[in-house]
Amino acid sequence: MTDNSETPNDEGPNDFIREKVRADVDSGLHEHIVTRFPPEPNGYLHIGHAKSICLNFGIAEEFSGTCNLRFDDTNPAKEDETYIRAIQEDVRWLGFDWGDNLFYASDYFEQLYDWACHLIREGLAYVDDLSAEEMREYRGTLTEPGTPSPHRDRSADENLDLFARMRAGEFVDGERVLRAKIDMASGNINLRDPVLYRILRNPHPRTGDTWCIYPNYDFAHGQSDAIEGVTHSLCTLEFEDHRPLYEWFLENLPVPATPRQYEFGRLNLGHTVLSKRRLIQLVSENHVAGWDDPRMPTVTGLRRRGVPAVAIRDFITRLGVTKADGLVEMSYFENTIREHLNHSAERRMAVLDPVKLVIENYPEDQTEELEAVNNPADENSDTRMISFGRELWVERDDYMDDAPKKFRRLTVGQEVRLRFAYFVTCTDVLKDDAGNVTEIRCTYDPDSRGGDSPDGRKVRGTIHWTSVAHAKTAEVRLYDHLFSEEEPGKEREWLEDLNPASLDIRKTCYLEPALEQAVPGNPVQFERLGYFCADLESRPDSLIFNRTVSLRDSWAKAKNK
Ligand code: ATP
Ligand code: MG
Repeated sequence: MTDNSETPNDEGPNDFIREKVRADVDSGLHEHIVTRFPPEPNGYLHIGHAKSICLNFGIAEEFSGTCNLRFDDTNPAKEDETYIRAIQEDVRWLGFDWGDNLFYASDYFEQLYDWACHLIREGLAYVDDLSAEEMREYRGTLTEPGTPSPHRDRSADENLDLFARMRAGEFVDGERVLRAKIDMASGNINLRDPVLYRILRNPHPRTGDTWCIYPNYDFAHGQSDAIEGVTHSLCTLEFEDHRPLYEWFLENLPVPATPRQYEFGRLNLGHTVLSKRRLIQLVSENHVAGWDDPRMPTVTGLRRRGVPAVAIRDFITRLGVTKADGLVEMSYFENTIREHLNHSAERRMAVLDPVKLVIENYPEDQTEELEAVNNPADENSDTRMISFGRELWVERDDYMDDAPKKFRRLTVGQEVRLRFAYFVTCTDVLKDDAGNVTEIRCTYDPDSRGGDSPDGRKVRGTIHWTSVAHAKTAEVRLYDHLFSEEEPGKEREWLEDLNPASLDIRKTCYLEPALEQAVPGNPVQFERLGYFCADLESRPDSLIFNRTVSLRDSWAKAKNK
């Protein structure tokens, strides 16, 4: 895999699943490891899915096996072709390749139907006429056994006939189901005659109206794994109680292989939500601008925000894989992003809350080109030229009246360095009637060109700037946590925990001209401000930048106050 250089373990990731896979290879149980990533195409992928992707594709790579991308498209009511395309794009962008191994559970519908008939013939499945509500009542509770359905003892012939007629469309939606005949008294409720097929008239994105009965997840999943020769079927912990059922099907059907299911803890991330149902609601109720809103924890949102794929992979590697669900702090993810961007992102200057600075003793019509290093964190970094002139933009909060001693920036009488340019001393400020600073006046020392001290004297601080005559105007979008609470919904309705300040749009920012060429997906550091990246919709005549992540964790500071 690409860049794991910062992983503590030089030999790559290790965990209980990889140990099991290694043991199965060493013992000769499997020559070729096959895993799969099985998304249901009913939403976009989020960073939790990325964990499953990194695990499944990662193991396949490490053991020279294969990882299938399989769409678990068994519920046409919620699935859509758009999601199928988006999921493929996201997996590829994350850096993984399924080669020719792209599959759909719907390709197995005929085989699954035959296997359902096999169970009926063996006396292991029956058609039930109970309504969904009755079935719930008959199912019993955790402490009480269930009650057998009055239709449980239908003959195999009657069941085969009814099941064929379900398929032929003779009954209305929900009128009958096919159930496995296992054990209505089982301590595991999943084994109390689970439903295998339901009637649903809904065109399917791939099979159209060929089918009006659909297998449910449990019946489709393990058998799809078996058809594909999956050796290790990795899923999240909530499927642990389904494992006996997964194995029951494999034992009772003439399947071509015996995959094994292993469960791992899902990724939960603070200050966001990773439930597809909630993400869909955020989009459909317009709490965000769409699936790729840069505040969303979706892969497409993170990409638009400027998060590099390698940072996502590295974050997931560092978390490791365990058998416990935990909550990971958002700041941990952001620190990983910062680390990567600190190495890879070029530096640029941009002023987000501009106020004009005029250098009184700088010639009116003069401009000059000053050299600036692109990335001080990279020894081999090249440089660029930036235009300088008499009038500059600087940040409003880099000036202060009557500043306290520790204020190292502009205040009347104080000398500071303009990054890559000159030493300037603040002489005066102009204000409007409301007392807002409208212009900062300075003088400069011509001998300090390049920002170097001419005589060994030191300045207290360095500030960034852009040239009024040369700067490009841009809109800059500052993003913050989508939810102000670490666990949305813990104390009240989850939507009430949305952070009202998650988006701060700065309409008039001034960027150094080189930023006109910035490409979406290639973040830069705005010096002293954070990491930013051109938005998908940015155009040369209307530049838009997204803040990927700030330079420091402002939430940690707030917490420790
Ligand atoms: P749903 O709530 O619709 O079941 P899901 O998040 O489980 O949604 P799937 O498309 O079924 O979505 O997920 C594909 C795979 O990704 C599954 O194997 C699932 O276990 C895994 N996965 C989903 N969410 C996470 C998560 N937060 N952490 C790790 N793996 C996850
Ligand atoms: Mg699921």
